Amino acid sequence: MAPMAAQRDYYEVLGVSRSATVVEIKKAYKKLALQYHPDRNPGDEEAVERFKEAAAAYEVLSDEEKRSRYDRFGHAGVSGPGRSAGAGGFHDVEDIFDAFGDLFEGFGFFGGRGRGGAGGARRGASLQTEVRVDLRTAATGCEREIQINRKKTCSHCGGNGAEPGTTPETCDYCGGHGQVVQAQGFFRVQTTCPACRGTGKIVRHKCNECFGSGREDEEVSLNIKIPGGIDNGMQLCLRGEGEVGQNGGPRGDLYVNVIVEEHPIFHREGTHLMCEIPITYTQAVLGSELEIPLLKGTEMLTIPPGTQPGESFRLRGKGMPDPRGGRTGDLHVAVKLDVPRKLDEEHEELLRKLAELEKARVTPHQKTWFEKLREFITGDEAE
Ligand SMILES: [Zn+2]
Ligand SMILES: [Zn+2]
Repeated sequence: MAPMAAQRDYYEVLGVSRSATVVEIKKAYKKLALQYHPDRNPGDEEAVERFKEAAAAYEVLSDEEKRSRYDRFGHAGVSGPGRSAGAGGFHDVEDIFDAFGDLFEGFGFFGGRGRGGAGGARRGASLQTEVRVDLRTAATGCEREIQINRKKTCSHCGGNGAEPGTTPETCDYCGGHGQVVQAQGFFRVQTTCPACRGTGKIVRHKCNECFGSGREDEEVSLNIKIPGGIDNGMQLCLRGEGEVGQNGGPRGDLYVNVIVEEHPIFHREGTHLMCEIPITYTQAVLGSELEIPLLKGTEMLTIPPGTQPGESFRLRGKGMPDPRGGRTGDLHVAVKLDVPRKLDEEHEELLRKLAELEKARVTPHQKTWFEKLREFITGDEAE
């Protein structure tokens, strides 16, 4: 009987501290699983062991109840009847894919892997691209044509990787199953065939165009529909527009990241738009009708006498539409007091009278450079 003590501590296996968070544990496991994945280490039994060990550790530490039992009782607390001491509850690598496969979506070689593996059908990798729109376009929505580079099935060999006129042969190593079974201690482990990498076929004369990969590059134009109200950072998913799958596997998806450009006037918060409109002291004191810019056209806004700087007014329904079909947002207009940097004589005179009336202490009139110049010239002429 293999001694239980031979089992490594699960925290040590994942290289995390005993107080690690679920996120840290997930991250550590993902890193190890990618590193020791059997497809990346064909024929390497040590890697298979490490892969299974990491999965067993993850199975326990990612589950609150199992983790607390493990913390109290060690391996004995989590290896009940029917469990193999060596590798948690996993008997073969496919079990691990079944249990945690969704963790690895987006990593081409894990996604959509079918149990059994004969034929090695794999889903194509997903792709990402981005599209930029300005705020006005984001409000109305639009259709855009985008160009992407992706892999398609090789047109020369039809995807089987063999030069036309030759055919792929059945793999001798696995007898065409794509999987090999290796006996390891008390249980048998099924892994991807290292000779054919799970396809069950060996190509002797590789295709001259794709060198046996069965795929070639293509540039395609796709029409995408951007819904009105789309916000910066939102992602559109085009199902089945990613890389072509292998050995009959489905295509991956294409993710389009939407970037909505900053607008010089409007600031966006969700479906609401904000803007600042400058008003003069007299407009604030006496009230006014303001022409407010919208994304399309303008609208009049009445501000009452005695409006304070920074006061905000709402134009209902003049914000952004909700891309999920909810209520359209509002436009919030904040007024800011615009203090003139220069005054003409008449302006200044009136304001000084106002200051007298308000008994405000103001800085005495300061001669401008022009006034000084004029005095200089007129003085000169008087002589
Ligand atoms: Zn080819
Ligand atoms: Zn094989």
